[in-house]
Amino acid sequence: MRRVLLCATVCGAMLWVAACSRESAGSSNASPQAPSGFANVDGARLLAANDPANAGQWMTHGRDYAEQRFSPLTRINTENVRDLGLAWFADFDTRRGQESTPIVVDGTIYVTTAWSKIYAFDAKTGRQLWKFDPKVPGEWAVNACCDVVNRGVAAWNGKVYLGTIDGRLIAVDAATGKPVWDIYTIDRDKPYAITGAPRVVKGLVIIGNGGAEFATRGYVSAYDAETGKLVWRWYTVPGNPSEPFENPQMEMAAKTWGGQWWKQGGGGNAWDGITYDPKTDLLFVGTGNGGPWPAEVRDPGGKGDHLFLSSIVALKPETGEYVWHYQEVQRDSWDYTAVQQITVADLTIDGKERHVIMQAPKNGYFYVLDAATGELISAKPFVPLNWSTGIDMKTGRPIMNPAARYDVTGKGFIAVPHYGGAHSWHPMSYSPQTGLVYIPTMEVSYPFVLAHEDDNPMGQKLSISFAGSAAMLRDPKALRVNKAYLLAWDPVNQKEVWRVQLDGGRSGGTLATAGGLVFSGNSQKNEFVAYRADNGERLWSHSAQTGVLAGPVTYEIDGEQYVAVVAGWRQTGNYWAPNYSRLLVYKLGGTATLPDPVPVPEPVLNPPPAFGTPEVIAHGEEVYGRFCSTCHGNDGLSRGMFPDLRYAAAINTAEAFKAIVLDGALTQNGMVSFASALKPEDVEAIRAYLVGRAIEAKNAPARAAGAPAPASPPRTHSD
Ligand code: CA
Repeated sequence: MRRVLLCATVCGAMLWVAACSRESAGSSNASPQAPSGFANVDGARLLAANDPANAGQWMTHGRDYAEQRFSPLTRINTENVRDLGLAWFADFDTRRGQESTPIVVDGTIYVTTAWSKIYAFDAKTGRQLWKFDPKVPGEWAVNACCDVVNRGVAAWNGKVYLGTIDGRLIAVDAATGKPVWDIYTIDRDKPYAITGAPRVVKGLVIIGNGGAEFATRGYVSAYDAETGKLVWRWYTVPGNPSEPFENPQMEMAAKTWGGQWWKQGGGGNAWDGITYDPKTDLLFVGTGNGGPWPAEVRDPGGKGDHLFLSSIVALKPETGEYVWHYQEVQRDSWDYTAVQQITVADLTIDGKERHVIMQAPKNGYFYVLDAATGELISAKPFVPLNWSTGIDMKTGRPIMNPAARYDVTGKGFIAVPHYGGAHSWHPMSYSPQTGLVYIPTMEVSYPFVLAHEDDNPMGQKLSISFAGSAAMLRDPKALRVNKAYLLAWDPVNQKEVWRVQLDGGRSGGTLATAGGLVFSGNSQKNEFVAYRADNGERLWSHSAQTGVLAGPVTYEIDGEQYVAVVAGWRQTGNYWAPNYSRLLVYKLGGTATLPDPVPVPEPVLNPPPAFGTPEVIAHGEEVYGRFCSTCHGNDGLSRGMFPDLRYAAAINTAEAFKAIVLDGALTQNGMVSFASALKPEDVEAIRAYLVGRAIEAKNAPARAAGAPAPASPPRTHSD
């Protein structure tokens, strides 16, 4: 059983004792001893990230504390970017999704891959220095909502820090790649997973986790960077109200919940955006969606806001003490997380200098908040959205479209944005030169249909109906949107300045530079592109042979500027073809070339004859949606990172299908046995559904072989 049990009292008490024993913050801002030239990063150096001495580094996830992903380097610029070429590349040993932002310190580049591995390379030559594999168990993949991805390491005082998909935090010697300490940040009986990059603030490694789709209880933790000892933990939602609360904010938050949310956990998992602001000395943490998804299932008949779901919370970095919060979505029912990147900037708004944080979260509004107080300065939609008609500036709350509350009305609602969000993990950047934010944007619809409480013992607990969703889309007049673009957004005037349309794929993360450039890949044309930052003019591109969705970085060594990005993503396509997961590094005049892609024949649909009654097939569709679609795609269509089961030989016989789904024949690949959740007749119903889908595809060539399904948005990683 992976139901969430209670750990509130024990964990909470331990944390606060630990927190009290900690010295004040300033003392740990400098390195105790000078490291050996590897990962030589401390607070003082990060504070000076934009000084000339450090301009050529990329020392933390968003380059500097502000997480602007703006580099002051100018050697590569609008005048010469056409001469950019591949300097070197390095292949990875996993073809799953790649989301890592590299860290570059003093000539060494550290990059993570799917399955939580780290590579260290000489950043100039590409020579591999070491590789670290934490050997996460393949079967843990079932606890990851959205692939076994990883978004990068943190560097500090001679070590790099890695969060793993199985919930560990590991300190690795940056010179040798040997682990220094390796601890669990989670209760291993619960389906948490870490995909996000740690940040190090004042000698503390800050890390959250994913798991809201599994209805776990979210939290963010701080560990001593030298010892791995837990210093504080801040839960994002309250625990069982009959147990002592960990802090006054949990007691306050509990008043906004009803029902018995704590039995499953409630969600709110902080899986990506964590930003430290030295000016206000605050740590901003973005919190996740509610779990299960419909608020009515978490809290039947309730009216409360469900704090601190879908919120930005400001904490004191040394203690985790609460300072302020801003909730973006009350009673979230749409997977509208507020975990997206939090960027700090100084903007002139209405003639006044404002020190702000900016976020483009899943819900489609672009928020500008006062960094010190959380005061809402402005919020406007950066995509056309339909769940809300605006933000009430007096209360800071969205004005709801009543029809969007599908869990209250009992009628399905086709929402824009979809659960993947108008913007997800793909990093955005902010250029102080142009004053623009460059947002990898999605404009996608999804039909939310309420289902009963999902009490299955494994897999996700979404409590939405996949068959109901598919039924809504059978109406030819149903709202269907599936667009993607790179959006340049003016955060002061809250308006679009330019966009690059990328329909059929997705925009990758962005990097802005003082050379007047924005770099961003995509999965539409599997390329990496440089644009003019002021007007979006396309200046240069390189074919990457695979989708490029991760955040690019830039650095300088010996007077030469480099641009690096991790490639490895297939939006749709053929799982059985190779996926070229690589680190790509470019410089002016670079002459390296990628090997030609291996030609691979398109897979052939060869389903057995249809079987099963309409009831059995409908049951198969529902069960497929609950247990299989996260990886294998909605509607029986994979986006290519996982097998499209319509083409799988295993659907030909009940025995072969059962051997994988119930007996766990492919456990090491991450395809565990579902025997604790599915009965043999469920598995056979899934097979009947898939065979039907395969026959349908065979009879409709336009939909075959990886063609995108217009009616049903592909899953993009969204935790
Ligand atoms: Ca989620």
